Amino acid sequence: MRFSQVKGQDALKAKVVDMVDNHHFPHAVLISGKDGYGSVAMALAIAQYIACENKHDGDSCGECPSCNKYQKLVHPDFHLYFPTTTTKRVEKDNSASLFTEEFREYVLGHEGYIDFNSWIEYMGGENKQGIINVRDADSIVMNATLKTFVSKYKIIFVWGADRLNAEASNKLLKILEEPYPNTIFIMTAEHKEKIMPTILSRVQTIFLSPLSDETIATELKERNPELTSEQVNYQAMLCEGDLNRISEEFFKKENEYREMFVQINRLAMTYKTKASEISKFVDDKSKMTRANLKEFFSYCISTIEKCWLYNCGVPMIQHPLEMSEDIFKKNYPKFITQNNLDGIYTILEKSYHNVDRNANAKINLFNLIIKLGMLLERR
Ligand SMILES: [Zn+2]
Repeated sequence: MRFSQVKGQDALKAKVVDMVDNHHFPHAVLISGKDGYGSVAMALAIAQYIACENKHDGDSCGECPSCNKYQKLVHPDFHLYFPTTTTKRVEKDNSASLFTEEFREYVLGHEGYIDFNSWIEYMGGENKQGIINVRDADSIVMNATLKTFVSKYKIIFVWGADRLNAEASNKLLKILEEPYPNTIFIMTAEHKEKIMPTILSRVQTIFLSPLSDETIATELKERNPELTSEQVNYQAMLCEGDLNRISEEFFKKENEYREMFVQINRLAMTYKTKASEISKFVDDKSKMTRANLKEFFSYCISTIEKCWLYNCGVPMIQHPLEMSEDIFKKNYPKFITQNNLDGIYTILEKSYHNVDRNANAKINLFNLIIKLGMLLERR
């Protein structure tokens, strides 16, 4: 990839280009930030830039033999590591090297904006957990010790360093501390806190910021020309700088949760007189999957927080209940006050954890509505 294909992140691109041009690029970096901020796209652009034979104007040329190979992710001095799991094809001893072909296709198909769950599904891992294991670590160590084939540098790319298991992490310590000549490690992680401190102390961290609403809005408009400016701005805000959220599925769910949020609050506000309606709602929504129920409770927590801030007069680009009916949008935030905020958080968090505990979904929802009703009365 070229830097021009990486969305936003202009300051970071300039910084990286400067480091490479002045031969200050570290032997091991960790790009820390969500995949949807562009960590993988950035890693691929950096690798291609370092190796490009004709770099100019702060970008790789995209045309030299090195760029040609990097763009297809087939450069012999570029080594790819990523989380894997067992699949129907690879029933045991899985490792990245057994899935390189699939990984290339997957990354190129998504133009570098990839995410872990969709990768595991793509590789045929269903909903298993993927890790970078000790076989991968052995292969990394071996590749680090090899001579380069054609380039000055060989680059070892690790997507998801937060998914290295302990045994694999330990194997990498030595090689990260005393790097082999002309070897550069570029790793990414969404959850830096999950990486062993001994690894972290051996790499230089580059922090990736969320993309701006303008960058997301431009992407949204390109992909969905039928959207109005109002819809584009609203959806851009919901993405919170994460390009991976620009999917129909995300917005469909967002719509469902928004409607459900209005419903649950209306029922809560009239809990004393609407028992049969509450029952009907609870019967219907208790059929949701556990994952969706948890997502809905998280959605409620985040929306309540925004309503509280709005009520406190904190300036916001958009109303927290934008796209909801006018009367609800106007009145609801006034119900979230310091008298009930903590109580509402507590009951929502409890409802969330009850899903993990496999509690009865109907009782969980019923309980939430009644307690929420009592709390809203206390505003
Ligand atoms: Zn080039």
